[in-house]
Amino acid sequence: MFKKLYSLAINTLYPDNFTCNFCGDEIFDDDGTATCDNCKNTLPFVSGNICNRCGDVIENQAKYCEFCKHEDKIFKMNRSVFLYDGAIANAIRNFKFDNQKFWHVCFAYYLFKAYHQYNYDCDIICYVPMRKNRQKARGYNQSELIATLLGKLLNLPVSYENLVKKKDTKNQVDLNFAQRKQNLSGAFSVNDKSEFKGKNVLIIDDVYTTGSTLTNCAEALKKAGAKNIYCLTVAHAHQKN
Ligand SMILES: [Zn+2]
Ligand SMILES: [Zn+2]
Repeated sequence: MFKKLYSLAINTLYPDNFTCNFCGDEIFDDDGTATCDNCKNTLPFVSGNICNRCGDVIENQAKYCEFCKHEDKIFKMNRSVFLYDGAIANAIRNFKFDNQKFWHVCFAYYLFKAYHQYNYDCDIICYVPMRKNRQKARGYNQSELIATLLGKLLNLPVSYENLVKKKDTKNQVDLNFAQRKQNLSGAFSVNDKSEFKGKNVLIIDDVYTTGSTLTNCAEALKKAGAKNIYCLTVAHAHQKN
């Protein structure tokens, strides 16, 4: 009885998410991101001038970064909330490789804010799929978890198991820019084209590296008749020129 009352009191006083995901400090007024004020001031948010296409930070006032300047992307734009660095890089690694699924809540709320900040207007959400064997080994697809909650927050439908990865590819980490493109070419396809036909599609991924994953997903969606492709990613691995 006492135990029951005690946990009831605790749950009333401190509902879920009352500590900061990043430092463990108490939060009194959580906006869903589970980030305390101190961490909000120190996390590596993308800010300043950014590439109109991929959303990477650029030091000068140019419209596009050195990479997007020379190459047209199939997706209309990507925006990332953070740079892939420090506490964010750690959080994403734990999210993906250490079964810390709870990160999807915080990240979905950040993408929700970004969606409005950048005036996105999409009809349907999908996520970068994983090969079945890899997802089975991990137990979940981290981008799918984010997309599911984001769909609820935005009141938008989420497409499941329609955009699929059919080709087993090498781990992108070990490859250079050209190899990455080749590695993923034709790796994704859409089963039921009618779901995307004529729609503005939002693709969710955790990290934007060279953009080749999203480019190849966008290519498959375009083939399925999608109108415009927008991307939101939690973090951007800054490309040094
Ligand atoms: Zn904190
Ligand atoms: Zn760019």
